[in-house]
Amino acid sequence: MSELHDECGVIGLFSTDASVDIVEETYLSLYALQHRGQVGAGIAVNNNGTIIYHKDHGMIPEALPEKELTRLGQGQIALGHVKYSSGGIQVDHENLAPLVMRYSKGQLALCLNGALTNYHQLRNELNQGAAIFQSNGDTEIIAYLIARARINALTIEQAVQQAVRRLKGAYAIALMSPSKLIGVRDPMGIRPLCYGKIGSSYVIASESCVFDSMGGEFIRDIEPGEMLVIDSEGVHSYRENCGGQTAACVFEYIFFSRPDSVVDGVSVNLSRQRAGQLLARQHPVEADIVCGVPDCGIESAIGYAMESGIPYATGLIKNKYIGRAFNNRKRNSEYLMRIKLNALKNNVNGKRVIVIDDSILKGKTSRHIVNLLRQAGAKEVHMRIASPPFKCPCYLTSDATAKENLIAADKTVEEICTYMGADSLGFLSVESLRELIPESHLSICDACFTGHYPLDVSDTSREDKYSKPKV
Ligand code: SF4
Repeated sequence: MSELHDECGVIGLFSTDASVDIVEETYLSLYALQHRGQVGAGIAVNNNGTIIYHKDHGMIPEALPEKELTRLGQGQIALGHVKYSSGGIQVDHENLAPLVMRYSKGQLALCLNGALTNYHQLRNELNQGAAIFQSNGDTEIIAYLIARARINALTIEQAVQQAVRRLKGAYAIALMSPSKLIGVRDPMGIRPLCYGKIGSSYVIASESCVFDSMGGEFIRDIEPGEMLVIDSEGVHSYRENCGGQTAACVFEYIFFSRPDSVVDGVSVNLSRQRAGQLLARQHPVEADIVCGVPDCGIESAIGYAMESGIPYATGLIKNKYIGRAFNNRKRNSEYLMRIKLNALKNNVNGKRVIVIDDSILKGKTSRHIVNLLRQAGAKEVHMRIASPPFKCPCYLTSDATAKENLIAADKTVEEICTYMGADSLGFLSVESLRELIPESHLSICDACFTGHYPLDVSDTSREDKYSKPKV
C-alpha cells in the first residue's frame, strides 16, 4: 500500500467507424486507468475540428456525469485523462486535462503523464515572449511550444516534433489536432505508452490493461522517442528521436501499473512475483504464513510463498470503496488508516507473519500495518519490501519530491525497523532490480533508490506548479 502516487493516465481514440459512440468508448476505457489518478478526470471529443470537453475533480463517475457525457456529443477522435496531484497539492480546475486551446490552425487538445525537468526554463522563456498562462502545469507549456512551432511548420507532425525536442523530462503525451490523434513517448522511455485497437478504433494508452478490459487488442508499446500519428489514412510512426539512452521507470512494475498490464514486454504481475521470490532468497525467515499488503504487495507475497514454501494467506483487507472526498477529510489519521485497511484475525492470530509491501516512503503506513497485525494477535511480524529503500526524491513521475518525506533518506534499515515496531525488516537489493524485468530491452531508472538520475534535475522545484496561478 504505497504512499507514492503517480501523476496521470492518458488515453486517445481514433474511430474509423462513424457509428461508434466514441464518448462511451473513451469513458469506459478510462476506467482501466483510474488507478493512475483519482483527483480529476476529463474527456475531449473532436467533431470535424470542433473540440468539446468536460473535466472536473474526483474519480471518473463523479468527474464525468452522464449529462456532461451527453453534452459532448459525438466525433471521430477523443482524449481521456485521469489526474493525480503532485506533492499532495490541491489541483486547480485549470490544471486538469485534457487541455483544450485555440490557435492559428484551429483547436488542439492535449493530455500528459509525466513531468518536465526544464519546466522553469521553458516557462520563463515563454513568459518573456508574452505568453499568458491559464495553468501552472507542464501540459500548457507543451501546448504553447506546439502552437508556436506550428506557425512555421508545414504540418502538425513537424510542429510536434520540433516542440518535443525542447522538452526534457518524463512524458507520455496524447494530443489531437482537428484531424489527427498523436501519441509521443519521451526519448528515455521513462513514462509508458502503448497502442492497440478496440473494435474499429485505434487507441493509444498509458497501459495495456485498457485493451484487455475493453476486449480489444494490444498491438505494441510505443518506443522511447517515437511519435505515432493516427489519421484517416492509417498509423504512421516517426522515429527521429529514438535510439538514445533509455531509463524506463522501474516503479511502473513495483507499484504504478496494474498487474494485468504488460509494460515494455514485461508482465507487471510476473515482475512482482519475481520480486517476492528474490526477497525470499535475500531475506529468509522462519514463519507460519506470508501475506501481502493490498494491492501491490499481494503478487510479491505469492512469489515469496512459492519460493520459501511458507503458506500464503490473506492477512489484510483493504476497503475498496474509499474515494477522494474521504482521503481529503481532516480526521484522525489513525481512524482513516484503520478504515482503509484491517487485519484478518482468523488468519494471523497466534502466527509468525511475514508481510510484504511494495515500498516504504514516510513509513507511517508500515508502522500502522505492523500495529494492526500485532493487535490481531500475530506472534511475530516480519516486514519485507519488494523494492529497495526509497532514499531520493523522484522528480520525473511521482509526488515523492521532498527528501524529508522519505524515511530511508536518513535512517538505516535497523532504525526503520525499530520505528515501525517489526521483528525484522528486509528490502529487495538494488542489484536485483534488473532481474524483475529480463524481457525488457530498455535500461531502467532507479534514481529513487540510488540517486543516479538519468537526466539533469536541477530545475525541478515544484513550488509554483499546480497551485493557484499567480495574478
Ligand atoms: S526516480 Fe524512481 S519513481 Fe521516479 S522515474 Fe525513476 S524509478 Fe521511477
